[in-house]
Amino acid sequence: MMVAVGTDVAHDMMGFIDASPTPYHAVHNVAARLSDAGFEEFDPRRGGQPGARFVVRDGGLVAWFDGDSPAKAPRLLGAHTDSPNLRIRPRPDLGVAGFRQLAVEVYGGALLNSWLDRDLGLAGRVAVRDGAEIRQVLVRSGGPMLRVPQLAIHLDRGINDKGLQLDPQQHLSPVWGLGAAHDGDFVEWVAALTEVATTDVLGWDIACFDTEPPALIGPDGDLLASARLDNLCSTFGALEALLALRWAGGGPGVIVLHDHEEVGSTSTTGADSAWVASVLEQRSAALGWERVEHLRWIESGAMVSADMAHATHPNHTGRHEPNHWVLAGGGPVIKHNENQRYATDGTGAARFRLACEDAGVPVQDYSHRGDLPCGSTIGPLSSARLALDTVDVGMAQLSMHSARELMATDDVGHMVAAFSAWLQGGGR
Ligand code: ZN
Repeated sequence: MMVAVGTDVAHDMMGFIDASPTPYHAVHNVAARLSDAGFEEFDPRRGGQPGARFVVRDGGLVAWFDGDSPAKAPRLLGAHTDSPNLRIRPRPDLGVAGFRQLAVEVYGGALLNSWLDRDLGLAGRVAVRDGAEIRQVLVRSGGPMLRVPQLAIHLDRGINDKGLQLDPQQHLSPVWGLGAAHDGDFVEWVAALTEVATTDVLGWDIACFDTEPPALIGPDGDLLASARLDNLCSTFGALEALLALRWAGGGPGVIVLHDHEEVGSTSTTGADSAWVASVLEQRSAALGWERVEHLRWIESGAMVSADMAHATHPNHTGRHEPNHWVLAGGGPVIKHNENQRYATDGTGAARFRLACEDAGVPVQDYSHRGDLPCGSTIGPLSSARLALDTVDVGMAQLSMHSARELMATDDVGHMVAAFSAWLQGGGR
């Protein structure tokens, strides 16, 4: 019974990730699911009753369910919608040696090797002229469009001894056809996709994505391989937890989905921004609260910052802190770092542990090796920006920042159960 439920929710997540090649698509899909569940787009100019609301801005989204007691200490859950990838430059048309190519810029800390020899699609957002206005159009190519071909071993004899050397300027331009390249080829393609004249394509944010859909792997389907697990897995978990809160009642619960975590979070919709604080203050103002009431309300809350964690790699166990191995399939991971690369403290860890206990899922602890620099995530920034107790958690995965990552199928169910218990006030 448990296994079947776990696999169903894993398939739901796989569908969500496949439909979300960029942050713009991810928040579009989250907003659509919320609308279907009766959430309304928040209009700060309209005062109103407590309710179920959401706000979308670019690749970010904030949503909340006030419940019957909107002044109660809120539970928050944050995640990020972006993943490392290759993005199309503003003047991308290149042509060398009979190939047509596109110029790309690396976004975030991508494992560059993982982008080689994959059939890549193109997706993103295009700004088109619409009379005197600008209209945003979500786009996605129908099938594979590009490929970054790896150099043959006969022309790179040292590769298996010395390792692969990739220069991001020289070696990553994808090919997308044969013949002579013309300045304007790419704009023509975008214009055809968006069904406007080339002169009406005014700007774009377009990225490459791996067209291979997510898959369950292994004789028992224990493993789940997919692009963008970091961090659409947590984004999906946040969405499911908010929907579960709506059906269960209770609250208030808030989810915040940030863009630009992979490049440091300083942007309009990144975690190092005034945006979420501003949206939540407008939410409280619409309920007729004084500002000081709102500030007290936020400070009384607690947040989970959800981002992926490193499972212990079976071929590289020496890279992990020997007393803090993390098992794929072993449930959510509480991430600890005394130097505040993660926002977790003992109280936050205790709260999340109790939420997992409520949910009946196992929980693990991660601590980074002392001789390797530790990564970070949105937790410390959210905690600082909102003056909010925060605990950093995440599901275990391998191959973080690869174009295709790997996790345990069962952990999707563990995550949804734990995040749902968290938003419902578990471990209070
Ligand atoms: Zn991440």
